[in-house]
Amino acid sequence: MSARSDVVIPKKATWAEVAPFYDELRNRPLNAGNIRAWLDDFSSLDEVVDEAYVLAMIDYTADTGDAEREVTYRRWATEILPLLHEIRVRLGQRLLEFADHLPDLAIFLRELETDVEIFRAENVPRMAALEEMEATYDKITGGLTVDWDGEPKTIPELQPYLLDRDRRVRERAFRLGSAAYLEKRDEIANLFHEMVATRHALGREAGFENFRDYSFAAKYRFDYSADDCMRFHEAVEVAVLPAILRLHEERRRQLGVDSLKPWDLQVQPGRDKRLTPFSTMPEFLAGAQRIFDRIDPELAGFFRQMIDHRLLDLESRQGKSPGGYCTRLPKRGEPFIFMNAVGVHDDVNTLAHESGHAFHTYLMRPIRYMWQRTTGHEAAELASMVMELLAAPHIEKPTGFYSATDAAVAQIDHLEDILIGLPHIACVDAFQHWIYTDGIEASPADRDAKWLELRERFEPGVDYTGLDAERVSRWYRQSHIHTIPFYYIEYGLAQLAALQVWRRARRDPADALARYKAALSFGGTRTLPEIFATAGASLVFDSVTMVELVAEVEARIAELRVEAKQRAA
Ligand SMILES: [Zn+2]
Repeated sequence: MSARSDVVIPKKATWAEVAPFYDELRNRPLNAGNIRAWLDDFSSLDEVVDEAYVLAMIDYTADTGDAEREVTYRRWATEILPLLHEIRVRLGQRLLEFADHLPDLAIFLRELETDVEIFRAENVPRMAALEEMEATYDKITGGLTVDWDGEPKTIPELQPYLLDRDRRVRERAFRLGSAAYLEKRDEIANLFHEMVATRHALGREAGFENFRDYSFAAKYRFDYSADDCMRFHEAVEVAVLPAILRLHEERRRQLGVDSLKPWDLQVQPGRDKRLTPFSTMPEFLAGAQRIFDRIDPELAGFFRQMIDHRLLDLESRQGKSPGGYCTRLPKRGEPFIFMNAVGVHDDVNTLAHESGHAFHTYLMRPIRYMWQRTTGHEAAELASMVMELLAAPHIEKPTGFYSATDAAVAQIDHLEDILIGLPHIACVDAFQHWIYTDGIEASPADRDAKWLELRERFEPGVDYTGLDAERVSRWYRQSHIHTIPFYYIEYGLAQLAALQVWRRARRDPADALARYKAALSFGGTRTLPEIFATAGASLVFDSVTMVELVAEVEARIAELRVEAKQRAA
């Protein structure tokens, strides 16, 4: 019997090097007596293979301009992953025959059963083509730079200018960022057009009416439906938009402007300067460490380990893929955090967010099989969004980064962002529902028009007069729509659950933290409603619950405004 844990798969592996290990698992005779040993080998092999892929992905996103890294990553994405998916489905079919012997794997087997049901060999080339197109989107957007006073800047590096006190500076940054995407509009629009067609064909091939229904199955959405998402969109309109209009009106008043332009949405009103939490990466790390030390010794230990093991790539650099992520190195049992920090308050939230994902990885480490050391995005984003909210009370010096006033301002900012995020989530989700159902015959121009219509619905109170093109550019920038379709409503469901945990934490922090850690430790061994319930939360699609949570956030914002004033005095 081969010992899978000894297998070594290099980053630069080819399918020919990987396949024999899976073939051996495929051909090994199975019975109730050896199924566990086979499972251990399968899980260990998947760990090693996934880790090689993840390392190649990290390398590539760290420098999208490096041709060799790109070749290696693309080989994984376009050649190996689709074939890997196929063989894993075949192995899954074998596994399902022993389901009666594996009650501890029930949740995973339910997912596996779905994989087997929706798998079509005819779709493997489509999946490869999609991986290729998605990598192309990353390449186009990762390479975007703008000229700022003769200096090339990445799109994330424009962020500080969007927070500038000077309205003209903000406007220029906004217009430059939009223009960078508009310049690539045709290229991205054509690419997306082809992606939609390929995804639609893939969904149909698998026996679904459209790619949306296929995606709900492929994403194992057993606990909510497309109709629930529609309810979510409507509830956001009823429960969240009125609060946002109130916040916008207050902002408009404080800024002393006639109408709020899109470049007025991020600046902190009533302040001379934007918040500057840190100026060097070591300062950033040390501050984050002190915050986690205050939250929980175990979680703080995880973060210290990440620093020691060099599992953080935080600063923005040219060529680096935009955005942030936390990924897992399943063989090592450790996470890796990637982001584009430029010294703004968002960076603090992003690091707290990605650290929440990282802590989830550590807490799941004791679970036996790799496939159970993962969850759907709803539970994953709960881990991260709760961490942002738990970190917030500690951002004041000497623990955190800010004076008392700045800490209050930063918390107001964060809570406002949470509320403003909800209609954006509804908008991105509604857009995708339309794209893959009623809008399936749409042209690229139709999609832009639909986006504008949805922005009107979900983004009231902002004056976009004469800025339609810039408003349209927003969806070209929303990478999820292009590269991970239908991954967005999860943020909304997780955010509303996170607010429930936050509400508990404000009354009983120890209990909220204990429940949070217990929920994360389940990994994928429980259903989504069970994980949420353990954390003290539920799935929210209705406006009644949303109204309660929004009211609590608004009340907290009002409190913080008073605090900020008193402390400034
Ligand atoms: Zn996340």
